Amino acid sequence: MTIPFLDLKAHHAPLREEFLGAIGEVIDSGAFASGPFVAQFERDFAAFSGAPYAVGVGNGTDALWLSLLALGVGPGDEVITSPSTFLATAEAISFCGATPVFVDVDERTCTLDPARIEPAITRQTRAIIPVHLYGQMADMDPILEIARRHGLMVIEDACQAHGAAYKGRRAGSLGITGCFSFYPGKNLGAFGEAGAVTTASDDLRKKIMALRDHGQARKYHHDMIGWNGRMDGIQGAVLGIKLKRLERNNELRRAHAAAYGQALEGIEGLIAPVEAAYGQHVYHIYAVRLPDPQARDQVLEEMAARGVQCGIHYPIPVHLQEAYRFLGYGPGSFPVAERWASQCLSLPMFPELTADQIAAVVRELKACVQAVVHRAPTVAVA
Ligand SMILES: *Cc1c(COP(=O)(O)O)cnc(C)c1O
Repeated sequence: MTIPFLDLKAHHAPLREEFLGAIGEVIDSGAFASGPFVAQFERDFAAFSGAPYAVGVGNGTDALWLSLLALGVGPGDEVITSPSTFLATAEAISFCGATPVFVDVDERTCTLDPARIEPAITRQTRAIIPVHLYGQMADMDPILEIARRHGLMVIEDACQAHGAAYKGRRAGSLGITGCFSFYPGKNLGAFGEAGAVTTASDDLRKKIMALRDHGQARKYHHDMIGWNGRMDGIQGAVLGIKLKRLERNNELRRAHAAAYGQALEGIEGLIAPVEAAYGQHVYHIYAVRLPDPQARDQVLEEMAARGVQCGIHYPIPVHLQEAYRFLGYGPGSFPVAERWASQCLSLPMFPELTADQIAAVVRELKACVQAVVHRAPTVAVA
C-alpha cells in the first residue's frame, strides 16, 4: 500500500462538478481579478474566523507583508517572531525593511515561548508575530499581555491554522491582523495561490485593500504606493465552496490525530504531538518526534521505502538558514527550535485518510522505529 503525505485528488473528486460550475460562473462574469467572488469569500471567511473583516490577497506571504506595511512597520524596526516556521514569516518582515528578531519556542508545542519574549524587546521592537505552527495556536494570552504592556502590535501567522481555536476564539480573531495562506496543501487550499488578512479594524481593512491594488481606492487614483497583491476571482469561488467543508474536515483531522495518538502510545523512543489545554489543534501537520536525529532521518527514508510518504516541517530553523546568516545567529542560539528541527517527522495527514491507512502508517512506523532506533549504532543503514 502506498500512502501519500496528502491526497488532493481524493479531496477534490467529490466536489468536481461544483467546482466546475463555480469556475464557469467566474468565466461568464469576467470577474477574474478581485471582484464579487472574492468579496463573497471575504465575508464568509471573516464570519468563519470570528473577525469582522477579511481581505483576500495573493498568498500568505502577501498577507504577512501587507499587514506589516499597513501597520507602518519599516526600516529600523524590529519584529519578534519564531524561528520554527516557514521562511515566509521572516521574509515578510525583511521585505518591509525591518529586522526579524527570533525568540525560542515552547518545548511542547513548538510555538513562540511567551516566557522568552520580554528579554528580546528593545526600543526598536514594534510587533510580535506568533506562528500557529502545525495547526496549533501559540499561547496568545501571555503574548497579548506582553504586547499590551510594551505597546507592541500582535500579528498572527495563521497560515497553518484555519479554524484552530484559543480558549474558544478562532485563529485570526486575536491579533491586530491574522494572516492566512490558501496554498493548495493548507487546511483550506485554493487551486493555486491565495491568502487573506483578517482584522477588526475598518481602517486596516481599507489600507490593506489599497495596498493590494496599487494604492488605488478609485481606479487610476493612487493615494499611496501599493503593490499587486490581489486574489483571483476563481480562487474566491473555489475557496467559498471548500470553506463550507472546512469545519468537518478539521474534525476529521482531529479524529485521525486521536487515532494516531492512541496507536502510537507506547512506541518507545517516539513522542506524539500534544494538544495544549488552551485550544483546539486542527492538525495541518501531524508531527511526531524521534529524539535521536540520525534515527529520525533513517526512519524518514525507511518509511518512504515502505511506501509511506512522510515529511519534515522544517529541517532547518529560520535563524540557521543561509539567507539569514547576516543576522549573526548560530547553532545553539535557539536550542528548543533546533531540537525540534532535528527530531520532528510529519506523518500523512489529510481529511480523507482512512482507518486502514492510519493502521498501515502506524504498523510501518513501529517497524521502522524498531529497526532503526534499536539497531546497534555501528550497523550501516542501506
Ligand atoms: C504557508 C505558510 C506561509 C506562506 O504562505 P504562502 O501562501 O505560501 O505565501 C507563511 N507562514 C507559514 C507558517 C506557512 O505555513
